[in-house]
Amino acid sequence: MWLKSIKSKIMVFAILATLIPSLGLGLLSFRQNEAQIDANVTRELRALTRYASREIEFWMDKHVHEVRVSATSGTVIDGLSTIDRPQTRTRGSAPGKNPQALAHYLRSVREKLDTILELTVVNAAGKTVASSAATPPAITLPSDWPQESLTDGLVVVTPHWNEQYDTATLSIALPVLSYNNMLIGALVAVLDLHTLQPELKSATKSPPGEVLLLDRDGRTLVSSQINGDKLIQLDESSLRRLHAQPGESLVFRGTTYQEVIGLADMSAELPVTIVAERDRAEVYGTWIKQRNMFLALVGALLLLVTAVAFQMGRSIVGPLQRLIGAADRIAGGDLDVRLAATRNDELGHLTQVFNQMADRLRHNHAQIMAANQAMQLQNQVLETLSITDSLTGLYNRSKLDAILSDELARFKRTQRHFTMLMMDIDYFKTLNDSYGHVIGDEILTAVARILVQSIRSIDYAARYGGDEFIIILVETSADHALKTAERIRSQVENMCYNANGSTITVTVSIGIVQCQSDDGTPTAVFARADSALYEAKHAGRNRAHHAC
Ligand code: GH3
Ligand code: MG
Repeated sequence: MWLKSIKSKIMVFAILATLIPSLGLGLLSFRQNEAQIDANVTRELRALTRYASREIEFWMDKHVHEVRVSATSGTVIDGLSTIDRPQTRTRGSAPGKNPQALAHYLRSVREKLDTILELTVVNAAGKTVASSAATPPAITLPSDWPQESLTDGLVVVTPHWNEQYDTATLSIALPVLSYNNMLIGALVAVLDLHTLQPELKSATKSPPGEVLLLDRDGRTLVSSQINGDKLIQLDESSLRRLHAQPGESLVFRGTTYQEVIGLADMSAELPVTIVAERDRAEVYGTWIKQRNMFLALVGALLLLVTAVAFQMGRSIVGPLQRLIGAADRIAGGDLDVRLAATRNDELGHLTQVFNQMADRLRHNHAQIMAANQAMQLQNQVLETLSITDSLTGLYNRSKLDAILSDELARFKRTQRHFTMLMMDIDYFKTLNDSYGHVIGDEILTAVARILVQSIRSIDYAARYGGDEFIIILVETSADHALKTAERIRSQVENMCYNANGSTITVTVSIGIVQCQSDDGTPTAVFARADSALYEAKHAGRNRAHHAC
């Protein structure tokens, strides 16, 4: 509903026109950046696992070599041979002293090598013969260690967290061969895996990241980051995902950070999982910052565009609404409308045109009103002329007919009488002939004046034709009318009209009739009045005669 207004449409258009391209391009660009970062981090993490794997390999080679030196030493071979086969004891060696001598040798070797926590010699049956440890530990080697050691030259026992040394340890067993190349036992070294940490740490300087070595259950054996030994376990689902997609970077809950991006690889040397990881917040820190800045920028831009669109909408709709209001006023008949046209744009032009249109309407309206007024005046004049006798100014014959019809109707309605006086100038033809028609007209006018002055404002005086006049006295009986007729007759007689130096005497004869119930039409009244006039003439003129 609100979208129907122009202002709303402009605002929606402006918002969409801002949002769609900016957000679309921005998000596309950020998505590409994210993918680029992913690819870079994955490449770096793979490099990390490779470096870590190589460091492990060096570390193993070094320590295997050290142990192998001992395993091939005459002290170990002789000691083991003597202990296992007393009949082959070397000359000069005291029976029963060989284990101690061997243990002594093992201790001396172990003291020289920091990485080795324990050195133990086992015989071919896997039984401990001598150890550098005060309490010789029980060595658990795989059942097929003799074959494996002969084939691979080395048996690696799965590394684990060693509670005794409070560190992750790795046991390696190197075969001890007699001088005639017979397997007579093995030298088992318990290595401190923590000594790998400096190598791992140096491997993680470039590219940056952390490297963890995990056991089968996801427990951290060594970490490039953590100096102290801690038994931190990776959660099961993360470990499973890492094992399922080796070499592929994943996001998971790390051991050192809340959320890490990392990948896993299996070590070729050790039965451990190498995990390289980086703090996700650190990797995406700049990206997230830029993205947030971009979103803030888009938000600010959106606010700005909305404000501008709102202002634009208002600047368009405001004048339009004023124009609509003004047009409504004109449609309602109020033409006195004028709008301020202060703008120079299309709306300003429209307002000017509107004002011109209103001016033209006002002008035309004034002209129409003036013409109308003139026409009304003319109509009044025409109406007056149509009912007036042009010579005397009295009512004419046609108006008299209408008056008489009305009076008859009123009489029938109210039974209030009116009386008609019909008068005729006596010997007027002679006056005309004697003094001329002009004088005759003047006499007619003078008589008419006396008639008008002799009646009330509610009565009517008309020129019936020639020298005949009719007076209708409203609501007047014949008796009263007779008095009026007498007064008129007397005034006309005494008029003393002067013409061409002579005094002209004019007289009138008057017939008087009062309306009757059987006067159906004006003609009937006229006829009776005419008879009364005739009687007045016949009786000698200059008199009034009332016909009963
Ligand atoms: P009577 O006493 O019987 O009335 O005699 P009269 O001479 O007056 O006769 P009548 O009334 O028949 O004559 C009317 C005359 O009025 C006839 C005509 O010449 C004259 N007349 C009619 N209209 C006009 C007019 O407008 N102006 C003038 N000056 N005379 C008119
Ligand atoms: Mg006459």
